[in-house]
Amino acid sequence: MPDAVQESLVDRFGRTVDYVRISVTDRCDFRCVYCMEPDTRFVPHAEVLTLEELALVARAFTELGVKKIRITGGEPLVRRNVVKLMHDISTLPGLRELVLTTNGSQLERLAPELRAAGVKRINISLDSLDEARFARITRTGKLAPVLAGIEAARQAGFEKLKLNAVILKHRNEDEVVGLTRYAAERGMDISFIEEMPLGVIGDHDRAEAYYSSDQIRADLETAFTLVASTESTGGPSRYFRLVETGTRVGFISPHSHNFCDTCNRVRLTAEGRLLLCLGQEHSVDLRAVLRAAPGDLPLLKQAIRDAMAIKPLGHEFNLAAKPLIFRHMNATGG
Ligand code: SAM
Ligand code: SF4
Repeated sequence: MPDAVQESLVDRFGRTVDYVRISVTDRCDFRCVYCMEPDTRFVPHAEVLTLEELALVARAFTELGVKKIRITGGEPLVRRNVVKLMHDISTLPGLRELVLTTNGSQLERLAPELRAAGVKRINISLDSLDEARFARITRTGKLAPVLAGIEAARQAGFEKLKLNAVILKHRNEDEVVGLTRYAAERGMDISFIEEMPLGVIGDHDRAEAYYSSDQIRADLETAFTLVASTESTGGPSRYFRLVETGTRVGFISPHSHNFCDTCNRVRLTAEGRLLLCLGQEHSVDLRAVLRAAPGDLPLLKQAIRDAMAIKPLGHEFNLAAKPLIFRHMNATGG
């Protein structure tokens, strides 16, 4: 018998969606200045998708041709039994890779279990190598456990570990070279992320803190030779190879470089809202579908197919203009 034809999700602009980022919680043990308010109110537990609902959504997506799932949050590793969920997702037929984004605080404890559960790659956020600064940026975070977590992940044998750093003026812009050295010495790539204007956060002035990818690149060129790489993830990253170390540096630049025409991804919030674009409000309430007809996989798949019709062409981030998007990154699943 010939194989059944694999269905795929294609939006009205002809873009194939084969990558889903799933936020498994909006909660976090950190309160990073660019991501959350110090006193952020979290979604009540009953409104967050259960692990069973999350597993069913992942299954629906893989049956619709999704090849890559990233687990994120909030901090995904503070959700109880999340490793079991990862195991269930990693064994779904058709999935090419299950990857994770974490702040690293729980990695020392969980790295071996995560590897055993089938997680292939991990992105770890690290904005500073200075203890006091790290505490200021994350408000409630401690540097030492994160560094220990990175070492534990290295020991656990993941296919790839990458660092993510959000660079802000007057906070950590002078650490660009140091963070890159730290990553390269451990054989890791590093991506620098421009801050995105998601949600208004108290006295944190985004236009004031903005530090562009082009500035970061110029800083790096004082220490390394950067050669443009043609590799693309279909996302907002542009990559360069460092001649001196052989590792890569990525720039995630939503402001200065538009990437929407090759967008291959959608996001699921912890409450089950399917976001069709990070920079727009277009969404579909999959939790309503899941709870109206529990376990109904065909209905869920149809809701996801229908959602493709409202995926917008692109985002409109503008640091100076109002209104900003009233969603914070922890609610979005960065
Ligand atoms: N808690 C995990 C972590 O920090 O890696 C996963 C979720 S976090 C929302 C994912 C990524 O989004 C992190 O690398 C974080 O630095 C980044 N991020 C959060 N808020 C952001 C913002 N306003 N602009 C750009 N990146 C942001
Ligand atoms: Fe938590 Fe990640 Fe947001 Fe920092 S960026 S507050 S670690 S969810």
